[in-house]
Amino acid sequence: MTTFTNLTGGAEIGANCYLIEDGSNSVVLDVGVHPKKVGNDAKPRLDLLEGKDPQTIIITHAHLDHIGALPVFQDKYPRAEVIMTRATAEVGRVMLHNSVNVMTAQRMFDGVVEYPFFSHGELDHAANHWVTRPYEEAFRVCRSGDMLATLYDAGHILGSCGVMLETRAGVHIFYTGDVQFEDQSLIPGASFPQEGVDVLIMECTHGAVERPIDYTRAREMNRFARTIRETLQGGGAVLIPVFALGKTQELLYELGRFRDGGRIPDVPIYSGGLGAKVTHVYDRLTYDTPRLNPGMILHESVETVPLPREMEGPMHVSPGSIYLVSSGMMSPHTLSNKLAAQVLPHEADAILFVGYSDPESPAARIKTASQGDLVRLGKDANAGQTYPVRCRIETFDFSGHAHRAALLDYARQLHPRQIVLVHGDVEAQRAMRDELERYMPEDVKITIPIPGKSCKLEG
Ligand SMILES: [Zn+2]
Ligand SMILES: [Zn+2]
Repeated sequence: MTTFTNLTGGAEIGANCYLIEDGSNSVVLDVGVHPKKVGNDAKPRLDLLEGKDPQTIIITHAHLDHIGALPVFQDKYPRAEVIMTRATAEVGRVMLHNSVNVMTAQRMFDGVVEYPFFSHGELDHAANHWVTRPYEEAFRVCRSGDMLATLYDAGHILGSCGVMLETRAGVHIFYTGDVQFEDQSLIPGASFPQEGVDVLIMECTHGAVERPIDYTRAREMNRFARTIRETLQGGGAVLIPVFALGKTQELLYELGRFRDGGRIPDVPIYSGGLGAKVTHVYDRLTYDTPRLNPGMILHESVETVPLPREMEGPMHVSPGSIYLVSSGMMSPHTLSNKLAAQVLPHEADAILFVGYSDPESPAARIKTASQGDLVRLGKDANAGQTYPVRCRIETFDFSGHAHRAALLDYARQLHPRQIVLVHGDVEAQRAMRDELERYMPEDVKITIPIPGKSCKLEG
């Protein structure tokens, strides 16, 4: 019998972690930390592995909700083999070293005593045991050697993969990880198997979102360029809060193209910190990973102005500049949060949102505010100083996740015996289940896995 156990803390986009057991074989897929929770609550339910013997762990990509607790897992299960793509290993080191710094600051300023979960030295030690694998080459996993795994390009960020597992009975289980089927600006769309899957474990981030019928990425990009041009020509500054890994690199490339093509004025683009470190990895692997424009070096083709380091005093927003800064959620203590405090009251300025924001984040508070409203930028709606909303606020869809129709098409194409829905909030999972029930043949079993519980996979 093959079983699936959901080790995430809840039905949400949290600390992703799943266990697949097949006889004596056991494989863990991803071991992330929750982006919003703090301390031990941010970890996945590793306690449920107590008494078990996870033999292999495969990491789909280097976003922290998939890799953030890997050194913690490795410390508990040093014998488990750790597998990922080379690009995920390189970006993962950068992300996790930054995470040590963030956790250390949270211990100091917020008194989170269990932080940091690991030190820089412990991370380096753990990372020395990571084994990298190329896409589309099957390899043996688990000590028995009778389970096979193959990684497929997931088109989400540099190095991202979906994972095919083949049990000794020949059951094919495919976990999408985070997936984007469409081309982005740098990263081509996913290259996933089109048949031969018995069980599909599928992300459904956008399961509840209906995308406008006339949406195209190109049209959205034009609107983005136009908004930036109008703001700069009006003497304003443009603040774009972004995730350091993925969106920063995709949009940096587009901003460079806009500037070279005369679609926006030639103004300074400020970018730095973690985003810049990740950009170096994108550049280093420009010939070694799937690209829409192989050989393109972001650091050479898009000139940016580095942001001053945190310690070098306060940062002032200058008119006629673009700020591409993390965090995408505008979490307190981040640069995008600090800059938002200066930009919000200025009519000439603009804040452009380019991705998902958690409903409780400062970014979501600003997104949903009306002109003249007062918003707070603290950790919740009652925390921190208030700022009047007078700047222009626009939202764009450049998601690194597949939209609902693309997920449905993929599921229909595969026609597996079972679909397990993960990586979505309750609303997204339910909406996706309802759509699948409507569009899939009746013999397909659709499962929303209960956190902390095991379920049987249809072999
Ligand atoms: Zn991701
Ligand atoms: Zn994710």
